Amino acid sequence: MKRLIVLGGGESGVGAALLGKAKGFKVFVSDKGKIKEKYINVLKHNEIEWESEQHTESQILNADLVVKSPGIPDTVSIVKQLKAKDISVISEIEFATRYTKATLVGITGSNGKTTTASLTHHVLKQELEVGLAGNIGDSFAKQVLENNFPNYVLEISSFQLDNCMYFKPHIAVLLNITPDHLDRYDYEFDKYIASKFRIAMNQTSEDYLIYDADDAVITNWLEKHPVQSTLLPFSLTKIIGNGAYLENETLKITIDNNQIIMPTKDIALQGKHNIKNAMAASTVAHLLKIRKQTIRESLENFHGVEHRLEQVLKINKVNYINDSKATNVNATYYALESMNAPTIWIVGGQDKGNDYQELFPFINEKVKAIICLGIDNKKLFENFESMVDIMVETQYMSEAVKIAYKIAESGDNVLLSPACASFDLFENYEDRGRQFKEAVRNL
Ligand code: ADP
Repeated sequence: MKRLIVLGGGESGVGAALLGKAKGFKVFVSDKGKIKEKYINVLKHNEIEWESEQHTESQILNADLVVKSPGIPDTVSIVKQLKAKDISVISEIEFATRYTKATLVGITGSNGKTTTASLTHHVLKQELEVGLAGNIGDSFAKQVLENNFPNYVLEISSFQLDNCMYFKPHIAVLLNITPDHLDRYDYEFDKYIASKFRIAMNQTSEDYLIYDADDAVITNWLEKHPVQSTLLPFSLTKIIGNGAYLENETLKITIDNNQIIMPTKDIALQGKHNIKNAMAASTVAHLLKIRKQTIRESLENFHGVEHRLEQVLKINKVNYINDSKATNVNATYYALESMNAPTIWIVGGQDKGNDYQELFPFINEKVKAIICLGIDNKKLFENFESMVDIMVETQYMSEAVKIAYKIAESGDNVLLSPACASFDLFENYEDRGRQFKEAVRNL
């Protein structure tokens, strides 16, 4: 019996363990952190061996194959030792791919993965049997084992791509590339870009790469490192033959002279970034032969994912918006870009080496007050103090929301779009978003 070691006992690790066991491996799950009770119960119930809060080397270094959680960097000792012994270390996505013949749609990018994967799934599921996996919901491995869908939409991070070898989506989507997670790439942007392009590395001309033609990082890289895939670009600024573009406030998606047209005002998701996400999702749907009317209706009734420019409430004609998932400057850029009224902006948290310059025009144009919500707000003050009349700081969400309420006048927006990680004051971005919504409801 081959020995499968799973490093990391979270959703993807436990899914891989279940699939591995079903495929005849002797499985051992090892997690240096604490495995959640719900997953321990699954492992026990399925008689899979595991250990929590330790890596016992003698139990791990005899592996035939290792599935590693994307959260574990290659630089930790146990992974280095495995690699030194030439033991193959793969991601859960790669592992599950080996046991399905389903048509795979792989979606990656620095921002917009969850939104676009959810939207794409929403459109496809109207006419196809399709699973949604990756960083969302049940793991891909578990779904391959239990549901065996003929199609999957997969949200894929660069960390998952790093440990893929044969993974080959029939349709790949590359939404954008902006600097993020550089700590895992030796602070070399090129390494991060190369990692994102692994989404297309096994594609042939029978497969498709849908990408943002307005993103210079992507187009420059493609020029220097051509791929085999059939290219289907999307753009907000240029006319595109095969692919998607915007003309007179109308989205146009063409594949082999077959065109779908949809006015952008009919798309439920707001903001330029979401027009791009909608273009990507519709191109996938068009490729998979979803009817035009179905695509249009699905874009009309998809209202987005929690914590992503989520409309919370309107109080005294003031609109409260939760964009807690904006954990980098680029995501906040699109949030501010989409504001069409004077905005009170709640920002801050754990800085990731942010460069705020690209936000400056929006601050002058739309932001009437800034509320800093973080432990260390010095950098925010240095950047923005001279641009707004009101700038305050707090370490409590309830206080941030109350201050916003006091400042806001009829017609204004109150936007939580932190541009920073949440870990200084909150458990994670979901906790931050939930606290915001609760504070708004308590007003
Ligand atoms: P990811 O899964 O890649 O983190 P999400 O869909 O969760 O992406 O969105 C993260 C943040 O980025 C949210 O604030 C969202 O409003 C914003 N966003 C969504 N799509 C895009 C895009 N295409 N470009 C830039 N920002 C985006």
